[in-house]
Amino acid sequence: MAIRTGEQYLDSIKIRNKAEIYVMGKEVKDVTTHPFLKPSVMAFKATFDAAWEEDTKELARAWSPFINEEVNRFNHIHRSPEDLAAKVKLLRKLSHKTGACFQRCVGWDALNTLWIMTNIMAQKGKKEYKDRFVEYLSYVQKKDLALAGAMTDAKGVRTLKPHQQPNKNAYVRIEEVTKDGIYVSGAKANITGVAATEEIVVLPTRAMGPEDKDYAVAFSIPTDTEGIKIIVGRQLNDARRLEGGDIDALPYFYNHEGLVIFDHVFVPMDRVFLMGEYEFTSQLVEVFSAYHRQGYGGCKAGLGDVIIGASMNLAKQLGVEKASHVQEKLTEMIFLTETMYSAGIAASLNAVKVCDNCWWVNPMHANVTKHLVARFPAQISQLSIDIAGGIIGTAPSEWDLKNPKLREYIAKYLQGVEGYTAEDRLRMVRLLENVSLGVAFQIESVHGAGSPAAQRIMFSRLYDLNYAEEVAKRLAGKKTDLQWKPKAEPWRESETEKLVKS
Ligand SMILES: Cc1cc2nc3c(=O)[nH]c(=O)nc-3n(C[C@H](O)[C@H](O)[C@H](O)COP(=O)(O)OP(=O)(O)OC[C@H]3O[C@@H](n4cnc5c(N)ncnc54)[C@H](O)[C@@H]3O)c2cc1C
Repeated sequence: MAIRTGEQYLDSIKIRNKAEIYVMGKEVKDVTTHPFLKPSVMAFKATFDAAWEEDTKELARAWSPFINEEVNRFNHIHRSPEDLAAKVKLLRKLSHKTGACFQRCVGWDALNTLWIMTNIMAQKGKKEYKDRFVEYLSYVQKKDLALAGAMTDAKGVRTLKPHQQPNKNAYVRIEEVTKDGIYVSGAKANITGVAATEEIVVLPTRAMGPEDKDYAVAFSIPTDTEGIKIIVGRQLNDARRLEGGDIDALPYFYNHEGLVIFDHVFVPMDRVFLMGEYEFTSQLVEVFSAYHRQGYGGCKAGLGDVIIGASMNLAKQLGVEKASHVQEKLTEMIFLTETMYSAGIAASLNAVKVCDNCWWVNPMHANVTKHLVARFPAQISQLSIDIAGGIIGTAPSEWDLKNPKLREYIAKYLQGVEGYTAEDRLRMVRLLENVSLGVAFQIESVHGAGSPAAQRIMFSRLYDLNYAEEVAKRLAGKKTDLQWKPKAEPWRESETEKLVKS
């Protein structure tokens, strides 16, 4: 059976013998029990549990022709627009179960990107990468592995290309090639869930030219490999997890990101999926970023639902849920949430087939999805703060609530409508604080899958302004060279579609 349970996943990531993982300056061996990382491991585990729980089972499983078996959808290669829509739906549902980023999408998007790119490279005469990738994919699916997707490089000076950087390793690069494999050095930044994974799939982060050949590299590597160092980043309210409470920190589920350092790491050749072919990097980045931007329409809509629910509950605790301005605010939050979701679904159902069994998301809708996500969560949080009241920034700690000398006062002065206790209020306030102001909803929404400017570049590239102008000229009775296109949308082809046709 290729589909693992959550418990089987926990057993396999428990101890790291070779890689070094650091949290707040100290090395961690058992990531499953460390108080800082445990909530992240539990959120990752939810992606395994989903394949067994009655309400998510159908969404979380898919049939794979590569191994002729059912697999966890998080390692599935999309075979239809409906598969892509199932991804968005599953992500929304899992946000309800975790209230956090569950961290398994980046690796999934990396697999689908490599499927498309190795197919395209095979069409252009480079067949070995596809053969290696299919072998690797079958291994991942059979073992139901937990993957990280590592694209973002350290990048040094943003306006300089990789080969122009004062730090030669500002982008991950090939240092040495042997007949058995390659040695790589450099660092990938902000890598979601990496300490909780079994493998890292590495992709180049930008379009490259001939001088950047050594930086045009894609490969996979077990996370527990000698020479890999992971420095886990801090997050809002993170030290609360070390206090051992069960209210303040939201200690059940959370995500983490890490700086992943490759210090002259050996990658066997059968795990190298791009080695120097800089001419495919711009399409690779386009394919990956669109896949990843589509998914945000699911997970962030799901977090929107949690925030809407918490706001509604807090309004009830205060007795204001029927006030017209509160209703108005909740309606606005629903509109913002459903807009993000609709765009993600459109990106899926309006998918583009770029080769045999290669279903890519619609690049225009996917970029619009992520751009909505870069804007709307901040508005949703503002509205929730408005409804929750000032307590969202001033609530006493759970330790005050648990102090026998204070408990009675807190019970008396934190209670609103009868039937709700002070603890009910504190729990809901903390949930709202941690979800709506946390990294996943506020920071990841802006920068995850690329900063907002990257999406604007993409949709202005894809939109055919000249065509729209000719349409307007015709209607205004002016001379025009308009050639009607069969498509309804005034869109240009993406770089990937052009490459496929060339
Ligand atoms: C919570 C979180 C999770 C993430 N998870 C992952 C992950 O799992 N895997 C992964 O690979 N990445 C991940 N990312 C990284 C994400 O893709 C990057 O943060 C994003 O691409 C922006 O890069 P940066 O953070 O280096 O920002 P910067 O590049 O430092 O951007 C800062 C500003 O500079 C601007 N800028 C950058 N370059 C230029 C330029 N050449 N010209 C003009 N303006 C420029 C940007 O538009 C932005 O406004 C994650 C990020 C976050 C916040």
